[in-house]
Amino acid sequence: MSDKFRLPPRYGTGEKSVWVEYIQLVAEVKPKLNLGQGFPDFPAPSHVPKALAEVTTSDDPLLNQYTRGFGHPRLVQNLSKLYSPLIGRQIDPMNEILVTAGAYGALYSAILGHVEDGDEVIVIEPFFDCYEAMIKCAGGVPKFIALKPNKIHEDMTAADWVLDYKELESLFSDRTKMFILNTPHNPLGKVFTRQELEKIADLCKKYNVLCLSDEVYEWMVFEPFQHIRIATLPDMWERTITIGSAGKTFSVTGWKVGWAYGPANLLRNLQVVHQNCIYTHCTPVQEAIARSLEFEMARWKTPECYMFSIAKELTSKRDMLNRILKDNGFITTPPDGGYFILADWTKLGNKLDLSTEKDEFKDYRFTKKFAKEAGILAIPMSAFYSKEHKNLGENYARFCFIKKDENLALAEKLLQEWKRR
Ligand code: PMP
Ligand code: GLN
Repeated sequence: MSDKFRLPPRYGTGEKSVWVEYIQLVAEVKPKLNLGQGFPDFPAPSHVPKALAEVTTSDDPLLNQYTRGFGHPRLVQNLSKLYSPLIGRQIDPMNEILVTAGAYGALYSAILGHVEDGDEVIVIEPFFDCYEAMIKCAGGVPKFIALKPNKIHEDMTAADWVLDYKELESLFSDRTKMFILNTPHNPLGKVFTRQELEKIADLCKKYNVLCLSDEVYEWMVFEPFQHIRIATLPDMWERTITIGSAGKTFSVTGWKVGWAYGPANLLRNLQVVHQNCIYTHCTPVQEAIARSLEFEMARWKTPECYMFSIAKELTSKRDMLNRILKDNGFITTPPDGGYFILADWTKLGNKLDLSTEKDEFKDYRFTKKFAKEAGILAIPMSAFYSKEHKNLGENYARFCFIKKDENLALAEKLLQEWKRR
């Protein structure tokens, strides 16, 4: 009986998800400040929820019914308008874009739609944790390469974490099907430079490999860094699928609308995965995102346009949380993009009795105890490494800074109170 209804082995042995575990922890421990899972604690630009309210109560009953399976027409048309000039080619809204259930849905369709039994997929560590599970679910074999700090110094930033390109090339072979890139990077906040992307692109071309580029933080890049879409590098459009997220773009993570775009022959596989599991994603939310994109494109590049103002707003939040963490004993790695800061907690470890926590990895023990004692929740960095390399992340915790300034200030208050105790 028990064996008959076991978890199918393609899901491993049901490895724990840090998100399931830490969201449960929030419910149990009730930390005063949740800097764990990445989501804003302030409202989205007002036109975005207003659009959704208008759509759901509009006179057009069809806006609350099923829409076109591969993406609501008004949304794919606006995504094409948004990305065509950024990519430097006309993106066909009907055949070169898929809209689905969050960037998660887009990643799932891309990985399940392209990876076959035994195919190798190169993944940069640390990595957004679902990549590994999805690759294995598809029967693929993840091959990991770690970003490592090129020098340890007081003022190091995410840009100091680099790949060894000799080591990277050694992972490529005729078994390699896909390379997964994530820029701006979660959890590091690294924004890959043009030179770095060129090296990756050259290897993808040399070994005929598909590049899956997760760019959900594309608008959250801090000066002087610039977001470069790898699909714009010479001869890369043909072999790149790029992923975006409305939740990240408009600070509405609960809306869970995401998309993939790329050449029709590569997108076709994603559509086939999608058409038999999601089939069509939520119509009113897609319509509201379509209208929100129109609103922003009408004020493109003005200081008010959310795609540009959010990066400015986040720059000062990054600086604020970075200073607070540094002043209170963490060694931080300030990011150049995204909305997370990595912080080495080891100088503070002796202030906590970690022996009461039962977890295997030190950073899980630290973040759990820290949530209970200091009242601040962060995410253990080893969650973003493969089993073999978790030790590389154990000294770090990830803090989310897309929060109201008053809540970032609360971090300082809580830290000082905890240290005084
Ligand atoms: N990729 C990365 C790198 C992420 O951080 C996230 C979390 N938002 C996702 C994909 C999934 O995004 P979504 O919420 O749109 O599914
Ligand atoms: N991308 C977000 C983060 O890294 C949310 C993760 C999730 O919802 N699973 O925190």
